[in-house]
Amino acid sequence: MKTLQELTRPNIWKLKPYSSARDEYKGAAASVFLDANENPYNLPHNRYPDPLQYELKKDLGKLKKAAPENIFLGNGSDEAIDLVFRAFCEPGKDNAVAIDPTYGMYQVCAEVNDVEYRKVLLDEHFQFSADKLLAATDDRTKLIFLCSPNNPTGNDLLRSEIEKVLNNFEGLVILDEAYSDFSEAPSFLASLKEYPNLVILQTFSKAWGCAAIRLGMAFASEEIISILNKIKYPYNVNQLTQQQAIQMLHKHYEIDRWVKALKEERKELENAFAELPCVLEVFPSDANFFLARVTDAVKIYNYLVGEGIIVRNRHNISLCCNCLRVTVGTRAENGKLVEALKKYK
Ligand SMILES: *Cc1c(COP(=O)(O)O)cnc(C)c1O
Repeated sequence: MKTLQELTRPNIWKLKPYSSARDEYKGAAASVFLDANENPYNLPHNRYPDPLQYELKKDLGKLKKAAPENIFLGNGSDEAIDLVFRAFCEPGKDNAVAIDPTYGMYQVCAEVNDVEYRKVLLDEHFQFSADKLLAATDDRTKLIFLCSPNNPTGNDLLRSEIEKVLNNFEGLVILDEAYSDFSEAPSFLASLKEYPNLVILQTFSKAWGCAAIRLGMAFASEEIISILNKIKYPYNVNQLTQQQAIQMLHKHYEIDRWVKALKEERKELENAFAELPCVLEVFPSDANFFLARVTDAVKIYNYLVGEGIIVRNRHNISLCCNCLRVTVGTRAENGKLVEALKKYK
């Protein structure tokens, strides 16, 4: 790996971050806060939230076995995706490499930041080759994006290939584990210390059932996390979100139950799909959704919309010709989908 200074944009490396009123005050036992131009009325919403979300990171750290210094929290993982481009990629000069197909936000953030985005096609099993990915890099490649389980294909990427990329790439590897709660494959979080160039993304939006509160996590070395914290908006995670997330962490056993139920429902839905005349192939999934190749994705998508059922049409995505991506819902919702597709002619 290059040094972090070599990887970071020079202006960001030099940047002195905005220092908020709450950053400067870090003493104990204060009770009169006249430093931040807040309104003293309208409790409890009148105060600015903790910029570094300390209480939340303490609870999250216990669950994830990670120190608060190794955790970045943002307005969805999308914030962390944008910030890695802004911190490490010089617009118009540096580039990022990613598997294809994958989550669309990597490319959107690359383009917003004027960073060349290089795609390396997966094989017919939706797997990637580390050698092929590394061959697409050059000395201006700062980031490699991997997503496991991958969206929209649903499968885990091979651990040995991910490790090969981590061991051989000079820049940062962004490993998106948005769906890892649903997978049997262990998270790379336990290996974070072995790989100084690893940034793991996770989210409260999927298994945690909290897409509405917008909370994403990045786990990385203390040095990488400090850079992200330096350039984020000072109060990027609002107080309501921090409180709701803490409450969710206190009932994480409930999440385990949801995940178990969704995995069982997925199996049933996949089996029901395999029997449908309009379904040609159901691709194996390690997530809370699966990809299915159908006889005519556009027609079936539109038919389902007419029935009041929305799935994701992935027909125009690489390798996903005539594919629909189906999120696993409640038993009743999944039943309606199957019943509608049985009636499709
Ligand atoms: C849904 C999803 C996310 C979550 O994004 P948030 O901004 O945290 O809601 C991240 N990565 C992938 C691959 C996803 O599918």
